This record gives sequence, structure tokens and C-alpha cells, in this order.
Amino acid sequence: MNIFDEMNRRGHEQVVFCSDPKAGLNAIIAVHNTSLGPALGGVRMWTYASTDEALRDVLRLSRGMTYKAAIAGLNLGGGKAVIIGDPNKDKTEALFRTYGRFVEGLGGRYITAEDVGTTVREMEWVRLETKYVTGTSRALGGSGDPSPVTALGVFVGMKACAHEVYGSDSLKGKTVIVQGAGNVASYLCSHLRKDGAKIVVTDIFEAKAKKLARAVKATYVKPEKIYAVRGDVFAPCALGGILNNDTIPQLKVRIVAGGANNQLLEEKTHMQMLMERGILYAPDYAINAGGLMNVANELEGYSAEKALKQAEGIYDILRSIFARAKAENIPTSVAANRLAEARIESVSRIKHIYAGTSQFAGRFGERTRGGR
Ligand code: NAD
Repeated sequence: MNIFDEMNRRGHEQVVFCSDPKAGLNAIIAVHNTSLGPALGGVRMWTYASTDEALRDVLRLSRGMTYKAAIAGLNLGGGKAVIIGDPNKDKTEALFRTYGRFVEGLGGRYITAEDVGTTVREMEWVRLETKYVTGTSRALGGSGDPSPVTALGVFVGMKACAHEVYGSDSLKGKTVIVQGAGNVASYLCSHLRKDGAKIVVTDIFEAKAKKLARAVKATYVKPEKIYAVRGDVFAPCALGGILNNDTIPQLKVRIVAGGANNQLLEEKTHMQMLMERGILYAPDYAINAGGLMNVANELEGYSAEKALKQAEGIYDILRSIFARAKAENIPTSVAANRLAEARIESVSRIKHIYAGTSQFAGRFGERTRGGR
């Protein structure tokens, strides 16, 4: 891979390769865009088959974070890191402290957090070496589990979809089909139940799905049957890539709105297929931005109440995406991208006016805005 070509093509500012054989660390940190503020994104630990694969992943994921922060109205840029290794075997204090020193070396241009393969425990090791880390435990002033905030965002986002399709926010009597019975799905189902929705739920772990079904009076179906259930809303809360050539033709709903990341296997093709079937799609990075709002909140002194309030704003964010999509006759995914890009561009233009100030001065006590 020609790294500079890839960076130019996707608009990355900086890519940092971090190596320390003694600590067993091979990591890549990608800072995509810092126009809106320091680049925040988790560090993923994964058994990448090659450096190219790890690089591709970190470039893709960091760019996604720029869009998510921008659409969520956060004063943050997009970044991400990957550590090449087996999260089940290779995690040591030395490795994560060494990683933390590399993060510290970026002087606040990148703020790390947990992601796939990393947990609060490792973030606490990272914190021993750098203050540029979020997602630590509540006991240490961190934001803890983001799922309740993510789920609230998904719930209000679903209401915005209902408003668009049915002319009313209420989900009373609507059938919501939830894929996954994990953290986000469980909190989401509680909201849905309170709102009077009929819930259908599945998980690859049958007992887990049945337990959730009992708790929220939902109907359980087997994982392979979930796509064909007739209802109003399909809520993917498990895996990415689940909107694809096989699954989209099976859907019998008017709305897709859920918490999972990267739901469309191929953004353009599968968005088009949903549109042709008359299904309204809530762009995933907008509707699930509650998790990012939660960790971002940590930078100013965490308040769960504030994070939840912010997540309620996802309702208006989705309404503006749908309005733009309608006005320009474009897919909702494209409308979300355009709104995010417009915010980044407008702030880039006025950046010089407030260069040197930091909205996070309280947490870091110094300039964190990574202006170029
Ligand atoms: P989780 O691990 O708690 O739950 C995921 C559940 O999906 C698990 O119970 C798993 O068994 C199930 N699952 C996996 N494959 C499945 C399949 N093929 N069919 C049915 N069920 C399947 O994860 P979570 O924290 O609830 O996150 C769910 C999704 O939301 C993920 O895609 C995650 O990236 C995304 N997300 C989560 C947050 C958050 O705050 N937790 C924030 C943003 C995005």
C-alpha cells in the first residue's frame, strides 16, 4: 500500500507507527481530521494477518470517527488506533503503558479509549502514562459503560424515524425487531417496552435472548429468522455488515434503526437497495453516537445526566438528516455525510479565529485543539 496515496485519498492528517519489541508493541495511530478538535477514538486490539490489514482498518475507522463526532455536534475530530496482537493472550501492563507513552507523545492531538479487544482495565494502564485517555471506570472519574447512553440515542432516533414514516413519534403498538440481546439492545428494549412497542428479539446465544425476552415481554425468534419477521422497525444491535444482498430482500419493515456500527455491507449498493424497497434508514454513525457523546463528556468532567441529555439530541440530528435527504432527493446516508462534511468545512474556515483555545482546558490544563 502506498501510505501517502491512501492518506491523501481519505484525507488523513497523520499516521503514527509505534513499535517497542521489549513490550511486544506494534501499533498504528491514525489521526484523520482535527478541524473540530482533538481526534478521539478507541484503540482496537486484533490479530491482524498483516500490517496492511491493520493499516487499512485504522484508516477506515478513524475517518468514520471524524464523521460521527461532526454529526453529533461534538468539538472533536476523528482518530483511532490499532494494536496488532491477540486480546486473549497478549495483553500486558507493559504493552499498554508503552502504548500510553506513544499517545502522550502526540500531545493531545489524539485521545484514546476502549474499543473491540480492549477494556476499562487496559485504559487504566494507559492512564498511568497519559492523560489523553477516556473510557476509564466511573471510580476514576471516567464515563463507564456507554451502553445506556447509546441505547437512549437509538431510542429517540427511532422515534424520529417513526415521525418521518408514520407522522407520530410514538412507538406504541409498533413492532420493533431487535437483533442482538447485548448491552445496547437490553437498554433499548426497556425504553421500547415503556413506550408500548411490541418487541421481537434474537441472539446467537439463545438463553441470553430468551432472558431478555422474558424481562421485556418480547417474542423470541431464532437468529436466522429475524430478517423476515413482519413489523415496523428492524433494529440491528449486534454486528456490522448485516444489511446486504441476502438480508435486505427478506426485510418486511418500514424502518431500519439500530445501534450496530457499519450496518450496510457496502454503503452505496445496500443503501440503494433499502431505498428501492421503501425502507427508511437511520445512518448508523448518527443514531449510535450516544456512546461517543458519553466518552466525550468525560473530557469536561463526567456527568451521566448531561450525557443522556446530549443523546436526546439525536432525535433532532436525525430529523435534520431526513430533511436534507428529502430536500436534495438523496439517500439518508449521503445526507448525513454532507451534514458532517459541511460542519467540518465551515469550522476549518474560521479556525484561525479561535486557534489556541481549548474547550477541554479544565481536563488537560493546556491547549488540546490539534490545529494544523
Ligand atoms: P454486546 O457485545 O453487548 O452485544 C452484542 C450481542 O449481539 C451479543 O449478545 C452477541 O451474542 C449478539 N450477536 C452477535 N452476532 C449475532 C448474530 N449474528 N445474530 C444475533 N445476535 C448476534 O455489544 P453492544 O455493546 O450491545 O453493542 C452492539 C452493537 O452496537 C455493536 O455493533 C457495537 O459496535 C455497536 N455500538 C455499541 C455502543 C455501546 O455503547 N456499547 C456504541 C456504539 C455502537
